[in-house]
Amino acid sequence: LFITFEGPEGAGKSTQARLLADWYRQKGREVVLTREPGGTELGVELRRLILTRPMQAETEFLLYSADRAEHAATVIRPALARGAVVICDRWLDSSLAYQGYGRGLPLRWLEEVSRGFLGELRPDLTFLLSLPPRLGLWRAKHRRASSEPDRFEAEELAFHQRVLDGFLELAAREPQRFVVMDVEKPFEEVVQRQIRRELESRGL
Ligand code: C5P
Repeated sequence: LFITFEGPEGAGKSTQARLLADWYRQKGREVVLTREPGGTELGVELRRLILTRPMQAETEFLLYSADRAEHAATVIRPALARGAVVICDRWLDSSLAYQGYGRGLPLRWLEEVSRGFLGELRPDLTFLLSLPPRLGLWRAKHRRASSEPDRFEAEELAFHQRVLDGFLELAAREPQRFVVMDVEKPFEEVVQRQIRRELESRGL
C-alpha cells in the first residue's frame, strides 16, 4: 500500500503522515514513513542543494527526479515488495505542481522523464491537504526553527497560488487517486480522523 501526502507549505503533511504511520503500526503493519526530497542518504544532500542554491527550473526538476529515482529504487519499491505500508510526504505530484504549474515547465516533459524511471509506480491514494497560500506560508514560517525561509517559501504569493491551483487540477484529473481535504480550519486530530475514515471506507 502506497500513500502520499501532497499540498502547499504549512499544510501539516508531515504531521498527518506521522499520525497515519502510528495508526498502521498499531494495527501491526510494517510502515515505512518517508519523504522527498531527502528520503535517502544521497537525497539528504540533494535536498540541501535544491533548497539553498538558486538554479534553473530544469535543473531543479532533474535534481528532484534524481532524488525520487534513488528513493523509488532503494526505499519504496523494496518496501512495497515486502508488503509494507509506505507513507510518503510529497511525491511526483509536487514536481508537477511546483516545477510544472509553479515554474512553467511543460507537464508532458515532466511526466515523460518521470515515467522513464518510475514506470507504473504510482500511489494507491494521495491526500491533498489544501489551504490558502498566505495562511500556509504563515504557518510554515512560525513552525520553522531557523529564521531563514528556504528558496521556495521566499517565492512570491502568486507562485504559491499557481502551485495550489496546479495541485487541485491534478486532483481533478485523477479523482480516484486523490482525496482533497480542506485543512484551513480543522484541528490536526480532526483531519487525521477524516483520513482514517477515508482509508477505512476504501478497505485500506
Ligand atoms: O515539504 P518540504 O518542506 O519538505 O519541502 C521542501 C521544499 O521543497 C518546499 O518548500 C517545497 O515547496 C519544495 N518542493 C518543490 N518541488 C518538489 C518538492 C518540494 O519545490 N517536487
